[in-house]
Amino acid sequence: MSQAPVLVWFRDDLRLADNPALARAAGSGAPVICLYIRETPTGSQRAMGAAAGWWLAQSLRALDASLRGLGNSLVLRSGTAGEVITDVAAATGARTVLWNRRYDAGGIAIDKALKTALRSEGLEAASLPGNLLREPWEVKSAAGEPMKVFSPFWRAHQRLGDIRVPLRAPRALPAFEGPLPSEDLESWKLEPTRPNWASDFPQVWTPGEAGAQARLTTFLDEELAGYADGRDRPDRPSTSRLSPHLRFGEISPVQIWHQAHIAAGMNHGRDLAKFLAELGWREFAYHLLFHWPTLASDNFQPRFDGFPWRSDTASLRAWQRGLTGYPLVDAGMRQLWRTGWMHNRVRMVVASFLVKHLLVDWREGERWFWDTLVDADVANNPASWQWVAGSGADAAPYFRIFNPVLQGEKFDPGGDYVRGWVPELAALPAAAIHAPWKAPTAVLEKAGVTLGETYPAPIVDHDAARERALAALSEIRDAT
Ligand code: FAD
Repeated sequence: MSQAPVLVWFRDDLRLADNPALARAAGSGAPVICLYIRETPTGSQRAMGAAAGWWLAQSLRALDASLRGLGNSLVLRSGTAGEVITDVAAATGARTVLWNRRYDAGGIAIDKALKTALRSEGLEAASLPGNLLREPWEVKSAAGEPMKVFSPFWRAHQRLGDIRVPLRAPRALPAFEGPLPSEDLESWKLEPTRPNWASDFPQVWTPGEAGAQARLTTFLDEELAGYADGRDRPDRPSTSRLSPHLRFGEISPVQIWHQAHIAAGMNHGRDLAKFLAELGWREFAYHLLFHWPTLASDNFQPRFDGFPWRSDTASLRAWQRGLTGYPLVDAGMRQLWRTGWMHNRVRMVVASFLVKHLLVDWREGERWFWDTLVDADVANNPASWQWVAGSGADAAPYFRIFNPVLQGEKFDPGGDYVRGWVPELAALPAAAIHAPWKAPTAVLEKAGVTLGETYPAPIVDHDAARERALAALSEIRDAT
């Protein structure tokens, strides 16, 4: 009698190498069914944002092509996970279902219920650790509690010993031979058409496992040296730009960890440590999400529940469109719209501007990022927004208010980042580009800039906005 097939449910782990669920299935020698479900969101699960949807479409195509190289293919279905998996298992006679874990409350609830249901039917169901360096519950304080401050978290994480060795991609993956219908990816309409706001994305990104590996190699060969200082410079290609690849699990942090150590060898100790600490922030965000499941909806510090946010649709819209009159903020918001990504330093500046200069609730910004980032991440996005807002765990203090002009002068000193994304300011000299409203009329005229016509005047005055933000903070400072 032929062996019953093993079903692997792919989620945010769209890769062949270092994929524990796939490796276990391949190791069984049984036919393997590779399934991706476009889940109908239930409970607290979030529907995927539009830019991430574009990435998903490319990534699924890439995964299917890799699986075809092994004589297998990706089966696409939509619906709730429980219904789809029960249906596929019944139709194929699969007796084992495997997946790599996720850590958001909505996903965990679905996975737990599914596991129980499958086991009650006598099937084997197993979830494996595949998307973090360590499981969120493994890192604890000395008292055995979840941790709220990054530095001790990262030290405790590192004290737990070596990171496991990455798994090889399967060399063979026998396919299930029976009929097994798959939906047409095009019918999911993940890619925009009219208007096609993603038209520039393919010039910037190569989604898929091969693209992720190529990006890592280039980063390690050419960009890791100098990362510790260069990572704050949006005008240079100084960071790894691996975030969307990590978001979709086209590469695992375990692979990055080991390849970075090998590439750095005895050199670049400080650069390597800084880069690994950024992966540490990702681990920390997942730790927070796991232990505080309402991270995306509730203030981590409840005293922020009484914060006097303003409802200001016009300002929110100016921020979203990159028309605030602050060149660094506008450059960031336009980079986000055009490429689905923004440099970390600029993310901090634009987020601070929305929350502190405009007093708009961080959840509005989080939602916009969720929809427009190709790396929109269930843990990193809300954790970072709360960090900037001051409402988060180990957050930047609310009273520390970024000055977007000084940030521009410090981290984009020649103005090239702004020139790249705000073409109407491109002819301004570096001395004027971060605060055009302070520039002499002759300088503006020569550069073809007319404030209020070719480029907006600032929508708020920095000093006045700062005073207003501090006054708002004083309303909650003494609250518990
Ligand atoms: P690198 O500097 O090369 O870092 C390597 C990896 O470490 C990144 O790919 C990422 O996975 C992780 N990492 C780096 N910085 C952070 C951080 N501060 N927090 C958590 N993980 C980090 N990152 C996302 O992946 N998805 C998001 O939705 C997201 N939203 C953000 C929202 C705001 C308001 C802010 C301030 C930051 C946000 N970040 C988010 C974190 C960070 O900006 C991005 O991870 C980083 O810019 C990605 O670029 P990179 O891959 O070149 O980073």
